[in-house]
Amino acid sequence: MAFPPLVLHIDMDSFFVSVEQRRDARLKNRPLLIGGHSARSVVASCSYEARTLGIRSGMPLSTARRLCPEALVLRGDMDLYTRTSQEITELLQERLPCLEKASIDEFYADLSGMERFFGGIKYAQELRQSMIQELSLPVSFGLSINKTVSKIATGQAKPNGSKSVPQGQEIPFLSPLPVRSIPMAGPVITSKLENMGIIQIERLQQIPLSWMSQAFGKQGLELGQKARGIDPMPVTPFREQKSMSAETTFDQDLADPLELRRHLIVLAERLGQELRSQNRMCSEITVKIRYSDFQTHTKQRKIAFTCSDQMLIQHAGELLKLLFVRRSRVRLIGIRLSGWVSAPPLLSLFDNPAPQQQLYQAMDKLRNRFGQGAVLRATSLDLKKQKSQEQ
Ligand SMILES: [Mg+2]
Repeated sequence: MAFPPLVLHIDMDSFFVSVEQRRDARLKNRPLLIGGHSARSVVASCSYEARTLGIRSGMPLSTARRLCPEALVLRGDMDLYTRTSQEITELLQERLPCLEKASIDEFYADLSGMERFFGGIKYAQELRQSMIQELSLPVSFGLSINKTVSKIATGQAKPNGSKSVPQGQEIPFLSPLPVRSIPMAGPVITSKLENMGIIQIERLQQIPLSWMSQAFGKQGLELGQKARGIDPMPVTPFREQKSMSAETTFDQDLADPLELRRHLIVLAERLGQELRSQNRMCSEITVKIRYSDFQTHTKQRKIAFTCSDQMLIQHAGELLKLLFVRRSRVRLIGIRLSGWVSAPPLLSLFDNPAPQQQLYQAMDKLRNRFGQGAVLRATSLDLKKQKSQEQ
């Protein structure tokens, strides 16, 4: 007999804040915000004490300061959060055979077949306790037959709790909740539905799927299904994740480090744009060079989660320096990005002021419309000129 599906969703509570509080206990039990320094920064994470005052992640920092002038504002430390995220991932990988890392502090695990539902619940509860003990970080769990219902259950369990929805109970569990609590519900559809008076999931459950599909297309159909507790998306473990890579084989082998670097920048920009268009950040970068005698060398490095061209260019450049040690010509150069998590556009969060993020968005828009060559950094522009002169 096939076991019922069982999907566990794990989400660290106010992750950045909790990591700061673990580092410095004086930060506990007080309104604490993590955000950037610029006037246009947003709140990246806030403590529950701040939440009770109406502060939310994504809110402009200036608004948050007005709501709570005594809140302590810390500049985020993405290196520390990435290291902590890896620490959590390693702990979970040891104990969960099928683990998907969904974001820097969020995971799904497929527990199907684990001694049926109640065995799975027991396992999850023990795992949660051991995470709290070993990591000293608060975490919430949701357990149900699929990813969507489990994620919503986690939201209901927060802070520092767990909730399981037995198979068959999805519809009554979801019906009193707002449509907005459905993950990836899409702000456009939800506000249209709200204008029609459809605020609670219960109302959405009554609307025929065919109508949702006609009115809002594929996204509407999916939303209608999710409202009924239906979600076919499987848990995708790490090993099935693909990496993203780009490489260039030169017409004529190159030996000039500057020229190699320029090619590398073009590749890094191309991959950076791809990451951003997929709303992803990566935490591993590999640079590859192949010499003219076909000897191939690679170097990989773990980095803080990023999707910024600037960071990719910097790391790729440093790896190239370590790699390009022979005094011979190079025929191919490449970059591979891996260790992905999905991410909201976080670029401006800590280190990059908002205008830089706007610049990236504008560049990506132009590239999407007019192609990769439409906008280039000055260094890669030199290269383009040079190439066209060669032709
Ligand atoms: Mg979280």
